[in-house]
Amino acid sequence: MPRHIVCLTFDFDTQSGFIARGMTTPTPLSRGEFGVTGARRILDFLQTRGIKATWFVPGFTIESWPRECEAVVAGGHEVAHHSWAHIPPANQSRDEEEADLVRANDAIARLAGRKARGYRSPSWDLSEHTIDLLLQHGFQYDSSLMGADYLPYRARRGDVAKLGEPFRFGKETSLIEIPISWSLDDYPHFEFVRTPTSILPGLQPASAVMESWFDEFLYMQKTVDWGVLTYTMHPFVIGRGYRMLALEGLVDRLGNEGAVFMTMEDAAREAAMKFSR
Ligand SMILES: [Zn+2]
Repeated sequence: MPRHIVCLTFDFDTQSGFIARGMTTPTPLSRGEFGVTGARRILDFLQTRGIKATWFVPGFTIESWPRECEAVVAGGHEVAHHSWAHIPPANQSRDEEEADLVRANDAIARLAGRKARGYRSPSWDLSEHTIDLLLQHGFQYDSSLMGADYLPYRARRGDVAKLGEPFRFGKETSLIEIPISWSLDDYPHFEFVRTPTSILPGLQPASAVMESWFDEFLYMQKTVDWGVLTYTMHPFVIGRGYRMLALEGLVDRLGNEGAVFMTMEDAAREAAMKFSR
């Protein structure tokens, strides 16, 4: 029996991403704060469809918006790790990265009653230490790499890439990678970001983005008997009214096509069973 899994995932950053980029004036902070409104809408919608999702929640959000995070847990969703301060690990020393990892995991344990099983790095840039740290701290899966689309794989440690030399593959680990893509992330499609050196135009029509996202599912269905498709969303992005309508439409179309919705933790467990067969 073919089985096509969809993971709806929400990175509940609130203001953390803006603070990590030094954008601490009132307007960018308020832009992050809108994530709280978005999260409420998403939670209400997921409840009407009986869908459990995975929420990657920075420790910052847990400690700044405790009631809103308790609502995520009360909805029966998975709370996964997304750092404490939303600093990309590639910009941290090993000790800084581990301290942030532990601090955020403690916050998750206090909120959800257990530590995180899954990790997604801020801005999707792992350091050379991240896979080791995740294994040491008992994580089962990561969702930050782009080496596949529908098929989870085992994350490697110790890859070596040097200019002018063939790529040297590191060793596969037990950590399950559930791959992601910027094309399946709401942020670059929708957010208008202006900095002194760049402009991210965003602001795509929501219906066009959801059409592409639906086609990804159709192609998974056409090419693999079992697969996992992961959509990455941010409450402050997808939570706008016209985008919510488009998301609701997508979820209903996926449901009609036979998509099986589940948390990433459950998808990782299915992937691990497949690997062990
Ligand atoms: Zn984030």
